Amino acid sequence: MTQQPHSERAHARLSASGSSRWMACPPSAELEKDMPDSSSVFAEEGTAAHELSEIFLLHEIGEISKRARSVRLNKFKRENEHYSQSMEDYVQSYVDVVMERVNEARATTPDALVLIEQRLDFSAWVPEGFGTGDVLIMADDQVEVVDLKYGKGVPVSAVDNPQMRLYGLGAYDRYSLLYDIDKVRMTIVQPRLDSVSTETLTADELLEWADNEVKPKAVMAWAGEGDFQPGEHCRFCKVAPTCRARAEENLAMAEYDFAEPKLLSNEEIAEILAKTGELQKWAKDVEAYALEQAEKHGTKFDGWKLVEGRSNRKYTDPEAVAELLKEKEYAETDIYKPQELKTITALEKVLGKKVFSETLGSLIEKPPGKPALVVETDKRPELNSAASAEADFGDDLLD
Ligand code: SF4
Repeated sequence: MTQQPHSERAHARLSASGSSRWMACPPSAELEKDMPDSSSVFAEEGTAAHELSEIFLLHEIGEISKRARSVRLNKFKRENEHYSQSMEDYVQSYVDVVMERVNEARATTPDALVLIEQRLDFSAWVPEGFGTGDVLIMADDQVEVVDLKYGKGVPVSAVDNPQMRLYGLGAYDRYSLLYDIDKVRMTIVQPRLDSVSTETLTADELLEWADNEVKPKAVMAWAGEGDFQPGEHCRFCKVAPTCRARAEENLAMAEYDFAEPKLLSNEEIAEILAKTGELQKWAKDVEAYALEQAEKHGTKFDGWKLVEGRSNRKYTDPEAVAELLKEKEYAETDIYKPQELKTITALEKVLGKKVFSETLGSLIEKPPGKPALVVETDKRPELNSAASAEADFGDDLLD
C-alpha cells in the first residue's frame, strides 16, 4: 500500500484543521489563501509520529507482515531525525487505544472495517473541503474517526471540535451509501498528555450541525465575506501578525479610560488580566514578523533599523584549549566543568517513558510549582493565599 508522505499532503483552502478559525472569522480564509505554509519543529515531529503510527497500525490490522513492520521501523529509525524511544512509546500507547476501539467494534461486528489515513471529503458542505482521517472504524451502525495529536502544548478535546466533526461528516458522507450509519463517534488521542476524548453524535445531529452551522459560514469564508472576529483562534492564522482587526482589538486596551480615579480598581485589573495573554502573543507575533521582514526582505520600518544582536565569545577549538592548559599544568577541575546529568525530559526521550519510570521513578519528585494567577475555569485547585491562611489559622496562632 503506497501512501503519500504526511509532509507532502495538500491542504484545502477551507481545511478541517483550520475550521475553528474560518468558522469564527470567515474572511480569514481569503486572507490566508496565498500565504506560504510555515513549518516548525513541532509540526515535523507530529508528522514523524503519524508516519510511525501508520507502520504500527498497518501491522496491527494485518495489512503488513511482522517482517515488513520491522523493516519499515528500522528504516524510519535510521532516516527520521525525530525518532526517539520516547516517541515510539507514545505512538504505541496511541496504537493501543486505537486497537481497543477496533476490538470493541469487532466484538459486535466481526468484519468491522478499519482504514488508515483516509482522505475524507466534506465538500457537500464546505467548498473543496477535505482532510485526512488517521483511522476509520466502520462497525454495524457506527463509524468512528480517531485522530492522533502528538503535541503536548495545548490539550485538545474532541467535544464540540469542528475539525473532528468535519472528519466525521466526511466519513459519514463516504460510507452512508454502503452502511446504515446512525452514530458518528469522534476520538482524539493525545498520548503525551495521557488524554483520550470522544464525542458521539447521531448522524442526524451531525447533519443538522453541518447544514445550519458549517455550510453558511463556509459559503461566507469561500467568498471572503463576513466579519473579522479576533480571538483564541488567531493563534495559527497565517496573517495573525498583520491582521488589522486583531491589532485594533489589542490596541483597544490602550483606549482604556485611565483618567479617574488615579489608581486602578481590582475589577479593572481583573479585566486587564483577561487581555494580557492575547496582548503578549500579538506583540510577539508582530515583533517576529517585523524582524523576519527586515532581515530576509530588507523591509524598512520608520524609526527602526536592523543591527547585529549581542553575542558571546566562544572557543575556536575547544580541544586545543584543553590541551594547552594541561601542558601548562592546570588541574582538570580548573579546565572542565563537572559532569552533569541530562535533564529529565532528555533522559526520558532516550529511555522511553516506561523504562524511565520503572528505573528512575522512585528518584523523581515534583516539587510544588510557584503560585500562578490563572482564569477561574482552569482545572487546578485553588491555592490558599498567605492572607487567607492567616485568616484561617490566625485564631489558632493566638491560642
Ligand atoms: S488574525 Fe484573527 S481576526 Fe485576523 S483574520 Fe486571522 S483569525 Fe481573523
